[in-house]
Amino acid sequence: MTATLDANPEIVLKSVGMCYQTDKTEVVALSDVSVEIKKGEFVSLLGPSGCGKTTLLRIMADLIQPTSGEVEIGGESAKNARLAQKYGIVFQSPVLFDWRKVKQNILLPLEMLGIKKMEREDRVSKLLELVGLTQFKDKYPWQLSGGMQQRVAIARALAMEPEILLMDEPFSALDEFSRERLNEELLSIWSNVGNTVVFVTHSIPEAIFLSDRVFVLSPHPGRLSSVVDIPLPRPRTQEIRNSPEFYQLISHIRERFEGV
Ligand code: ADP
Ligand code: MG
Repeated sequence: MTATLDANPEIVLKSVGMCYQTDKTEVVALSDVSVEIKKGEFVSLLGPSGCGKTTLLRIMADLIQPTSGEVEIGGESAKNARLAQKYGIVFQSPVLFDWRKVKQNILLPLEMLGIKKMEREDRVSKLLELVGLTQFKDKYPWQLSGGMQQRVAIARALAMEPEILLMDEPFSALDEFSRERLNEELLSIWSNVGNTVVFVTHSIPEAIFLSDRVFVLSPHPGRLSSVVDIPLPRPRTQEIRNSPEFYQLISHIRERFEGV
């Protein structure tokens, strides 16, 4: 199964395979995954636990190297893309520094890269505005709700103005209400920033609500089993979740998992 689409795709994976070597056994986490994602696209990697979503995201980010196949980011190696700071990554738990205030957490990558103070301050104000946390800039992470902490993590990932935002189940620890609200907020941020987003989730409605396309992965070994276009109009609002088209897409994708 190959997801092909664009003349100049931003992310290209060719027959990627990943085999983890443990003491006694080998785990084939991914087998023959070929994907093309275009610039500015919002895609989700959807599948049950253990099907290789995190592995695939880490390969895209050059945090691990695949045991077979190739990865190209904007026509270059994933390593070059990483060195050129093309990625912003948001993990499942926000990984914030408890002793730094919200604003200082977002500033961290900018300080590490030696961006000048004036520009740093300017960027952080815009980011705080973008994620709706201006009023909370002087709070500590532990004074915020889980959803707000995840928004800080998103702002920090966006601080380097990454061309590619990789998100690994960023909202899975949140209650359904916060999650739905953050889904909408994420789309509004994305429509402002216009970067490419790869979003990992095991929630079918979440993948549909957010994405232009959903890449369905199946386990043992992890492989791409289908690619589903989501033709729902944008901007997407809560009403879309109640539309017949939304329900049809849910059952369409659910059928992809039957017999998995
Ligand atoms: P997902 O994110 O979809 O839950 P993962 O990519 O984390 O899936 O894992 C895919 C498979 O690879 C699982 O069977 C998991 O146990 C295995 N795996 C992941 N990381 C490692 C590792 N570092 N060493 C050995 N096996 C691993
Ligand atoms: Mg995972």
